[in-house]
Amino acid sequence: MRLAVVGVGPGNLADLTFRAAAYLEQAEVIVGYRTYLEGITPYLEGKEVLPGRMREEMERARAAVRQAQQGKRVVVVSGGDPGVYGMAVPVLQAALQAGEAVEVVPGVTAATAVAAMLGAPLGHDFAVISLSDLLTPWSLILRRLRAAIEADFVLVLYNPSSSRRQDKWRQAVELIQSERPGSTPVGVVWDATRPGSRRTLTTVARLDQEPVDMRALVVVGNSQTTISNGWMITPRGYECR
Ligand code: SAH
Repeated sequence: MRLAVVGVGPGNLADLTFRAAAYLEQAEVIVGYRTYLEGITPYLEGKEVLPGRMREEMERARAAVRQAQQGKRVVVVSGGDPGVYGMAVPVLQAALQAGEAVEVVPGVTAATAVAAMLGAPLGHDFAVISLSDLLTPWSLILRRLRAAIEADFVLVLYNPSSSRRQDKWRQAVELIQSERPGSTPVGVVWDATRPGSRRTLTTVARLDQEPVDMRALVVVGNSQTTISNGWMITPRGYECR
């Protein structure tokens, strides 16, 4: 391994895979966004650490490639899974441009970490949508959200809201409320597997009352999803009802 982009899971070392841990141990240089580095401090000792800032992903990826070209073993860390709104794309692009070999090491993504805390809300088909309009036009996000609602997918909403785009979150909630029954179960989890983790079970009708932010993941049920004894469950098919 000379250059790898490694998924470090949702934030708890217990959810780091053995393969990811092995890559971190072997690394000489670790590149990553500060929040994710904080979750893996035991692996940083004795390593050269290059913290990055948000919105500088491509720069960070190129810096990682340059280090690898100098013959160092370089790991770019990404929260959750690196291929899900993570560093795998910029690192692959930078490596391809430079003709450098690269590996992608998967991790536990927020969707499955959060689903486990809620019960089994992803037991049937689900659509994963990021509500961040930083790199995607808002009109396209709404179009995909509308299509997923219409097709009765369970919705998994990454990057649901930030202080900068409260109005967008309100628009998304209004769309969901206009197209799904108000009684549809919704689960929201903040900081899954991290200290201070919190979960709420609510409904589509009450979704606007949740203080949703960038630390949260929102799971909106489909027409078959139920809440029972504090567990959110989407049955695989109609046979179990
Ligand atoms: N690559 C990451 C996702 C990066 S996008 C992954 O695979 O999980 C960042 C968004 O992911 C956050 O805004 C939030 O919606 C979600 N997220 C990441 N970690 C989370 C956690 N521990 N708990 C809840 N949501 C999380």
